[in-house]
Amino acid sequence: MTAPAQSETLLSPRQQEHAAEMRQLVQSAITDLARQIGAGHTDGYLDMLAFYRKFWRYSARNLVLIKCQQPDATRVAGYHTWQKLGRQVAKGSTAIWIWCPIIARQRDPETGALEEACLGFRPGSVFDAADLEGIETDPLPSLWRPLPDDCEDAYWHVLRAIGDTGLAITEQALPGGLQGKATVDTIVVSTTIPDSRNRLATLLHEYAHVLAHFGPVAQGKDERQCELEAESDCYVALQHLGSTTRSRAITCCTTT
Ligand SMILES: [Zn+2]
Repeated sequence: MTAPAQSETLLSPRQQEHAAEMRQLVQSAITDLARQIGAGHTDGYLDMLAFYRKFWRYSARNLVLIKCQQPDATRVAGYHTWQKLGRQVAKGSTAIWIWCPIIARQRDPETGALEEACLGFRPGSVFDAADLEGIETDPLPSLWRPLPDDCEDAYWHVLRAIGDTGLAITEQALPGGLQGKATVDTIVVSTTIPDSRNRLATLLHEYAHVLAHFGPVAQGKDERQCELEAESDCYVALQHLGSTTRSRAITCCTTT
Protein backbone atom coordinates (compact mmCIF):
# COMPACT_ATOMS: atom_id res chain seq x y z
CA MET A 1 0.00 0.00 0.00
CA THR A 2 2.26 2.80 -1.22
CA ALA A 3 1.32 6.23 -2.53
CA PRO A 4 1.71 6.69 -6.27
CA ALA A 5 5.08 8.19 -7.12
CA GLN A 6 4.13 9.42 -10.58
CA SER A 7 2.41 12.52 -9.15
CA GLU A 8 5.46 13.71 -7.23
CA THR A 9 6.60 16.16 -9.92
CA LEU A 10 3.15 17.79 -9.87
CA LEU A 11 3.34 18.65 -6.19
CA SER A 12 4.47 21.91 -4.62
CA PRO A 13 7.23 21.70 -1.98
CA ARG A 14 4.58 22.06 0.76
CA GLN A 15 2.51 19.28 -0.75
CA GLN A 16 5.61 17.10 -1.00
CA GLU A 17 6.15 17.61 2.72
CA HIS A 18 2.55 16.55 3.42
CA ALA A 19 2.98 13.60 1.07
CA ALA A 20 6.04 12.40 2.98
CA GLU A 21 4.20 12.71 6.31
CA MET A 22 1.20 10.83 4.94
CA ARG A 23 3.35 7.99 3.59
CA GLN A 24 5.06 7.75 6.95
CA LEU A 25 1.71 7.67 8.77
CA VAL A 26 0.32 4.89 6.57
CA GLN A 27 3.53 2.91 6.72
CA SER A 28 3.75 2.98 10.51
CA ALA A 29 0.03 2.17 10.88
CA ILE A 30 0.38 -0.87 8.60
CA THR A 31 3.58 -1.99 10.31
CA ASP A 32 1.88 -1.67 13.69
CA LEU A 33 -1.17 -3.60 12.48
CA ALA A 34 1.04 -6.36 11.04
CA ARG A 35 2.93 -6.56 14.33
CA GLN A 36 -0.33 -6.90 16.28
CA ILE A 37 -1.66 -9.59 13.96
CA GLY A 38 1.69 -11.38 14.07
CA ALA A 39 1.40 -11.46 17.85
CA GLY A 40 -2.08 -12.95 17.59
CA HIS A 41 -4.00 -9.76 18.45
CA THR A 42 -6.84 -9.00 16.06
CA ASP A 43 -8.49 -6.05 17.85
CA GLY A 44 -6.73 -3.43 15.73
CA TYR A 45 -7.61 -5.24 12.52
CA LEU A 46 -11.27 -5.62 13.53
CA ASP A 47 -11.28 -1.94 14.48
CA MET A 48 -10.06 -1.11 11.01
CA LEU A 49 -12.79 -3.25 9.44
CA ALA A 50 -15.44 -1.57 11.60
CA PHE A 51 -14.09 1.80 10.48
CA TYR A 52 -14.26 0.63 6.86
CA ARG A 53 -18.03 0.24 7.24
CA LYS A 54 -18.27 4.03 7.39
CA PHE A 55 -15.70 4.75 4.67
CA TRP A 56 -16.17 1.94 2.16
CA ARG A 57 -16.00 4.36 -0.75
CA TYR A 58 -12.42 5.31 0.12
CA SER A 59 -9.20 3.57 -0.85
CA ALA A 60 -7.48 1.45 1.79
CA ARG A 61 -4.73 4.06 1.97
CA ASN A 62 -7.18 6.89 2.65
CA LEU A 63 -9.08 4.70 5.10
CA VAL A 64 -5.92 4.29 7.16
CA LEU A 65 -5.11 8.00 6.91
CA ILE A 66 -8.56 9.05 8.12
CA LYS A 67 -8.52 6.55 10.97
CA CYS A 68 -5.03 7.59 12.13
CA GLN A 69 -5.88 11.28 12.14
CA GLN A 70 -9.50 11.17 13.34
CA PRO A 71 -10.48 7.79 14.81
CA ASP A 72 -14.03 8.99 15.56
CA ALA A 73 -14.69 10.35 12.07
CA THR A 74 -18.06 9.49 10.59
CA ARG A 75 -18.29 11.40 7.31
CA VAL A 76 -15.64 13.58 5.71
CA ALA A 77 -15.63 16.09 2.87
CA GLY A 78 -13.54 19.01 1.66
CA TYR A 79 -14.13 22.51 3.02
CA HIS A 80 -15.87 23.69 -0.14
CA THR A 81 -17.92 20.51 -0.54
CA TRP A 82 -19.37 21.06 2.94
CA GLN A 83 -20.15 24.66 1.90
CA LYS A 84 -21.95 23.46 -1.23
CA LEU A 85 -24.05 21.26 1.08
CA GLY A 86 -24.94 24.32 3.12
CA ARG A 87 -22.63 23.53 6.03
CA GLN A 88 -19.69 25.46 7.43
CA VAL A 89 -16.55 23.96 8.90
CA ALA A 90 -16.02 25.51 12.35
CA LYS A 91 -13.04 27.80 12.80
CA GLY A 92 -10.02 26.09 14.34
CA SER A 93 -10.99 22.63 13.05
CA THR A 94 -8.12 20.30 12.29
CA ALA A 95 -7.89 19.09 8.71
CA ILE A 96 -7.56 15.40 7.88
CA TRP A 97 -5.08 14.82 5.05
CA ILE A 98 -5.87 12.23 2.42
CA TRP A 99 -4.81 11.47 -1.17
CA CYS A 100 -6.98 13.22 -3.78
CA PRO A 101 -6.82 12.51 -7.53
CA ILE A 102 -5.20 15.05 -9.85
CA ILE A 103 -7.64 15.19 -12.75
CA ALA A 104 -6.77 16.78 -16.10
CA ARG A 105 -8.51 16.93 -19.45
CA GLN A 106 -6.39 15.24 -22.09
CA ARG A 107 -6.86 14.37 -25.73
CA ASP A 108 -6.98 10.64 -26.39
CA PRO A 109 -4.07 9.97 -28.82
CA GLU A 110 -6.12 7.42 -30.76
CA THR A 111 -9.57 8.95 -30.95
CA GLY A 112 -8.64 12.63 -30.46
CA ALA A 113 -11.51 12.99 -28.00
CA LEU A 114 -11.04 15.12 -24.87
CA GLU A 115 -11.20 12.93 -21.79
CA GLU A 116 -10.60 13.33 -18.10
CA ALA A 117 -7.50 11.51 -16.92
CA CYS A 118 -6.10 10.89 -13.45
CA LEU A 119 -2.49 12.05 -13.51
CA GLY A 120 -1.72 10.98 -9.98
CA PHE A 121 -2.63 11.93 -6.44
CA ARG A 122 -1.96 14.94 -4.24
CA PRO A 123 -2.47 15.58 -0.54
CA GLY A 124 -5.84 17.20 0.06
CA SER A 125 -7.59 18.28 3.25
CA VAL A 126 -11.01 17.08 4.40
CA PHE A 127 -13.00 17.70 7.58
CA ASP A 128 -15.14 15.40 9.67
CA ALA A 129 -18.86 16.07 10.14
CA ALA A 130 -18.18 16.59 13.86
CA ASP A 131 -16.28 19.77 12.91
CA LEU A 132 -19.30 21.42 11.28
CA GLU A 133 -20.88 24.45 12.93
CA GLY A 134 -24.15 23.55 14.66
CA ILE A 135 -23.79 19.79 14.08
CA GLU A 136 -25.06 18.99 17.59
CA THR A 137 -28.38 20.76 17.12
CA ASP A 138 -28.65 20.31 13.37
CA PRO A 139 -27.34 16.81 12.53
CA LEU A 140 -26.78 15.58 9.00
CA PRO A 141 -29.81 13.95 7.39
CA SER A 142 -30.15 10.26 8.13
CA LEU A 143 -32.16 7.51 6.49
CA TRP A 144 -34.43 6.75 9.40
CA ARG A 145 -37.73 8.56 9.59
CA PRO A 146 -39.37 10.21 12.58
CA LEU A 147 -42.24 8.26 14.17
CA PRO A 148 -45.18 9.59 16.21
CA ASP A 149 -44.04 11.08 19.49
CA ASP A 150 -46.39 8.98 21.64
CA CYS A 151 -44.14 6.78 23.80
CA GLU A 152 -42.73 9.23 26.34
CA ASP A 153 -44.25 7.42 29.36
CA ALA A 154 -43.27 3.97 28.09
CA TYR A 155 -39.73 5.21 27.36
CA TRP A 156 -39.18 6.43 30.93
CA HIS A 157 -40.86 3.33 32.39
CA VAL A 158 -38.51 1.03 30.40
CA LEU A 159 -35.51 3.24 31.11
CA ARG A 160 -36.10 3.01 34.86
CA ALA A 161 -36.68 -0.77 34.67
CA ILE A 162 -33.46 -1.35 32.74
CA GLY A 163 -31.58 1.07 35.01
CA ASP A 164 -32.75 -0.98 38.02
CA THR A 165 -30.79 -3.95 36.65
CA GLY A 166 -27.58 -1.99 37.24
CA LEU A 167 -26.94 -0.73 33.71
CA ALA A 168 -25.82 2.88 33.26
CA ILE A 169 -28.08 4.57 30.71
CA THR A 170 -27.26 8.02 29.38
CA GLU A 171 -28.52 10.30 26.66
CA GLN A 172 -25.74 11.89 24.61
CA ALA A 173 -25.21 13.37 21.18
CA LEU A 174 -23.80 10.56 19.03
CA PRO A 175 -21.90 11.22 15.82
CA GLY A 176 -22.95 10.40 12.28
CA GLY A 177 -26.64 9.71 12.78
CA LEU A 178 -25.94 6.94 15.28
CA GLN A 179 -29.09 6.25 17.34
CA GLY A 180 -27.66 4.14 20.11
CA LYS A 181 -24.62 2.46 21.50
CA ALA A 182 -24.11 -0.40 23.94
CA THR A 183 -21.29 -1.90 25.95
CA VAL A 184 -21.52 -4.78 28.39
CA ASP A 185 -22.80 -2.47 31.14
CA THR A 186 -23.82 0.81 29.49
CA ILE A 187 -26.38 2.07 27.00
CA VAL A 188 -26.28 5.43 25.27
CA VAL A 189 -29.37 6.77 23.51
CA SER A 190 -28.79 9.62 21.08
CA THR A 191 -30.20 13.02 22.04
CA THR A 192 -30.80 13.75 18.36
CA ILE A 193 -33.65 11.22 18.05
CA PRO A 194 -36.65 13.49 17.58
CA ASP A 195 -39.46 11.28 18.88
CA SER A 196 -40.09 9.10 21.92
CA ARG A 197 -41.16 6.07 19.89
CA ASN A 198 -37.78 5.84 18.18
CA ARG A 199 -36.04 6.52 21.51
CA LEU A 200 -37.95 3.65 23.11
CA ALA A 201 -37.14 1.33 20.21
CA THR A 202 -33.46 2.29 20.37
CA LEU A 203 -33.34 1.65 24.11
CA LEU A 204 -34.91 -1.80 23.68
CA HIS A 205 -32.64 -2.62 20.75
CA GLU A 206 -29.52 -1.72 22.72
CA TYR A 207 -30.75 -3.63 25.76
CA ALA A 208 -31.13 -6.72 23.56
CA HIS A 209 -27.47 -6.28 22.54
CA VAL A 210 -26.42 -6.06 26.19
CA LEU A 211 -28.29 -9.26 27.07
CA ALA A 212 -27.32 -11.36 24.07
CA HIS A 213 -24.20 -10.03 22.41
CA PHE A 214 -21.46 -9.86 24.97
CA GLY A 215 -19.50 -12.69 26.54
CA PRO A 216 -19.94 -16.41 25.81
CA VAL A 217 -23.53 -16.05 24.53
CA ALA A 218 -22.24 -13.93 21.63
CA GLN A 219 -19.81 -16.55 20.37
CA GLY A 220 -20.18 -17.38 16.69
CA LYS A 221 -22.59 -14.54 15.96
CA ASP A 222 -21.64 -12.06 13.28
CA GLU A 223 -22.78 -8.45 13.20
CA ARG A 224 -25.72 -9.08 10.88
CA GLN A 225 -27.07 -11.80 13.13
CA CYS A 226 -26.69 -9.58 16.20
CA GLU A 227 -28.54 -6.71 14.52
CA LEU A 228 -31.33 -9.03 13.36
CA GLU A 229 -31.71 -10.45 16.86
CA ALA A 230 -31.63 -7.03 18.54
CA GLU A 231 -34.20 -5.58 16.16
CA SER A 232 -36.42 -8.67 16.46
CA ASP A 233 -36.31 -8.51 20.28
CA CYS A 234 -37.04 -4.80 20.08
CA TYR A 235 -40.06 -5.51 17.84
CA VAL A 236 -41.47 -8.10 20.25
CA ALA A 237 -41.01 -5.76 23.22
CA LEU A 238 -42.63 -2.86 21.36
CA GLN A 239 -45.63 -5.05 20.55
CA HIS A 240 -45.83 -6.05 24.21
CA LEU A 241 -45.83 -2.39 25.18
CA GLY A 242 -48.69 -1.71 22.77
CA SER A 243 -46.74 0.14 20.08
CA THR A 244 -48.21 -0.25 16.61
CA THR A 245 -44.89 0.35 14.88
CA ARG A 246 -44.46 -2.42 12.30
CA SER A 247 -40.82 -1.76 11.55
CA ARG A 248 -38.24 0.93 11.73
CA ALA A 249 -36.33 2.08 8.68
CA ILE A 250 -32.77 1.55 9.84
CA THR A 251 -31.02 1.19 13.11
CA CYS A 252 -27.57 2.65 13.36
CA CYS A 253 -25.81 1.49 16.43
CA THR A 254 -22.52 0.26 17.73
CA THR A 255 -21.67 -2.34 20.30
CA THR A 256 -18.26 -2.26 21.84
ZN1 LIG B 1 -27.67 -2.69 16.92
